[in-house]
Amino acid sequence: MIRFRHLRTRLTVLYAGLFGIALLFVALAVFTAITASARSVVRGELTATGAVYDQLWESRSAQLEQGAAVLAQDFGFREAVATNDEPTVSSALENLSARQGVDGALLLGSDGYAITAGPSLDEATLNTLWTGLNDGELSSGVLDLNGQPHQAVAAPVMAPVLIGWVVFIDRLDQTQMTRLEELSAIPLNASVLTRAADGWRGMSGPESALAGLMDRAVAEDGAAVGGRTAQGEAMVLARPLPSFDADAPAVLALSYPMAEALKPYEPMFWALGGISLVGLALLVAGTWFLSRGLTRPITALDEAVHRLQAGEDAQVEITSTDEIGRLAESFNAMAGDIRDRQARLTHMALHDMETGLPNRLWLERQAASSASAHVVLFGVDRFEVVRNAIGFEAMGQLVAALGARLSTATGAPVARVGAGVMGLMLEIEGDDADAIAAAARLCAVANEPLKLIGARIDASLTAGLARAVQPTGGLDAVVDRAGVAIDQARAAGSKAALFDAAAYGDPGANLSLMSDLICALESDHVWMAYQPKFDLRQNAITGVEGLMRWNHPKRDFIAPDLFIGMAEETGQIRALTEWGVRRAIADQKALAKAGHRLKVSINVSGRLLSDESFARFALNAVSRAKADLCFEITETAVIDNPEAALGIIDRFAAAGIKVSIDDYGSGLSSLAYLKRIAADELKIDKAFVMSLDESAKDALLVKSTIDLAHSLGMTVTAEGVETQTAMALLRGMGCDTAQGYLIARPLALTALIERLEKPALEAAA
Ligand code: C2E
Ligand code: CA
Ligand code: CA
Repeated sequence: MIRFRHLRTRLTVLYAGLFGIALLFVALAVFTAITASARSVVRGELTATGAVYDQLWESRSAQLEQGAAVLAQDFGFREAVATNDEPTVSSALENLSARQGVDGALLLGSDGYAITAGPSLDEATLNTLWTGLNDGELSSGVLDLNGQPHQAVAAPVMAPVLIGWVVFIDRLDQTQMTRLEELSAIPLNASVLTRAADGWRGMSGPESALAGLMDRAVAEDGAAVGGRTAQGEAMVLARPLPSFDADAPAVLALSYPMAEALKPYEPMFWALGGISLVGLALLVAGTWFLSRGLTRPITALDEAVHRLQAGEDAQVEITSTDEIGRLAESFNAMAGDIRDRQARLTHMALHDMETGLPNRLWLERQAASSASAHVVLFGVDRFEVVRNAIGFEAMGQLVAALGARLSTATGAPVARVGAGVMGLMLEIEGDDADAIAAAARLCAVANEPLKLIGARIDASLTAGLARAVQPTGGLDAVVDRAGVAIDQARAAGSKAALFDAAAYGDPGANLSLMSDLICALESDHVWMAYQPKFDLRQNAITGVEGLMRWNHPKRDFIAPDLFIGMAEETGQIRALTEWGVRRAIADQKALAKAGHRLKVSINVSGRLLSDESFARFALNAVSRAKADLCFEITETAVIDNPEAALGIIDRFAAAGIKVSIDDYGSGLSSLAYLKRIAADELKIDKAFVMSLDESAKDALLVKSTIDLAHSLGMTVTAEGVETQTAMALLRGMGCDTAQGYLIARPLALTALIERLEKPALEAAA
């Protein structure tokens, strides 16, 4: 099946094809009819000419027979024959043949002798003649003489019995045939043929032209046959002639080439062919033209559909009132509907339903099309608190009202990006600092109190800015960057801030780092370092603090401050700490084996203190191993459930686990907290200890903290002891334990054992 790209081509080919087939049938019918009629004309003409020749033959035979009979009955001639008077007979024959205008005459005696005038006959021919005359009782017929057909006519000589025959011989020549041809209405060819052993012979030798058809024509016996000959298609009619030689029948052959018969029709065939071609050309052109008219609106519709798909205007021109016109009308209506719906959808996608303001997506698009501008987000401060106070509905109105003020102040449209966040594009002359200042000034639109549902509401705004184009680092979405910038501004206590990629870090990468960490616990990439704690009264190392280390295979050393903080944020801290407890218990046993009984301190995040399952794990592990541990409570985050935490600390104390308050002075720990926690040790933050010899104020703080701790029944450890001076000062202040690089850095277990073999204050000495 052929495929057409265009309907027009298909129609044209279809019509031209059908018309061509019809033309072919017409041409075939015309040709067949004409050929049949020509054949019948030729056949009739051949038959008629054959009949004419029969008559010519008969009358000639009768004429010659009569002439021969006159001589045969002449008394003197009979006597001459009877007396064998050869000169008389031969002169009589000569006279008569001249009179009759024949080629020759002869007397054929019954005893076998012959007297001839004209051409002489050989013995065989005479025998043939004799046999034909006596046995065939033939008086007129064809006789082959020296390879030429002749007409022979005879009359008997009776005296009174048969004593011989008078025979006339006349050559059947072309002049006679030409005369016959002239008698016919059509220019046919006539010829007398005899059948010899080696084929048909004509009047001038072997017949080749009609050879193929002759046997069939003879079999048809007087009816014309058509067929191929050496001269092409022809019709042949064969009329049998009497022959003296029974073995060599003779016929009159009439032939006519069909090409000749069809010649008169040739101009008609040409004209017909020409008309067909012109007709075909007209049809192709007409169909092409017509189908173009038909398919043009369809093509227009087709193109319109493509435009519709591409989201362009897709109306088509209506050019008719027929089905196609109505289709175009429906299409236009449909395209219009789609466009309206599209517009509504686009509007919905780009606007906030509650306030009717443009939304976040709209702002992102604005940002994408203006490279030089800043995206500024304004967050309503203490949003949840305000919303819970005034209700959701009033909050929506508040945001809309603040948005309207911002819009008036800047002349730019304002989008609602989140529940309590609005945003706009800020085009400003100047640098980032100017933009930040402008954004901070814009926050003042909230200064004038708003009246909503009859009540006065005070609101305040904080602005976050982000450059529309951020080359590298930070978040991909500019609106997200501006959102983070709001938090950064609030954290810094300012009204407006520009997004700070460095401060934001890479939370995504951190997340993947955490999964690495959990896997690393199984390997030896994570290990525990131990830093000695030096008892200032006993002048000996009495304990160590376990400090976690992580050698990331791709990132090398990762500071515990980073991964511990992250583990707290992502809920992995318990797994990490449990690993630390197990490690510490195992290492404590190894130390004991090496002869060192040391208390091992473990850092425990304040977060974990309200975790019942961690508590159960720790109590279980410590009591089973009879380990001597101290938990340093680091307070990096607010303790979620202080009541539960205090209960668990009590249970630790009951189980013999010492509790230490880590980083005292830097975190959130307060006096109230100190009083309530049943702690055994207070660790003064290294920030104070390290500046001890420089700052008199810090020295005072450290001294009073030591006194306070002692009065609450706690021992005091100072961490970050790096100098002899600090060590001496602390000793003087009554501090119990010192920890710091002066004594030792955090060491791997084997290094720690080596260190313990040496004097406790080797480095200090
Ligand atoms: P931290 O508990 O206050 O630990 C003391 C930190 O001070 C350690 O840092 C230690 O290497 C460092 N340090 C010790 N002596 C000196 C000194 O003389 N000078 C100075 N400049 N620094 C000194 P590190 O190992 O980086 O640990 C940081 C924090 O990570 C720790 O603070 C602790 O809060 C946390 N951490 C470490 N290991 C663990 C753990 O296994 N579990 C938990 N929850 N937190 C841990
Ligand atoms: Ca610690
Ligand atoms: Ca500390």
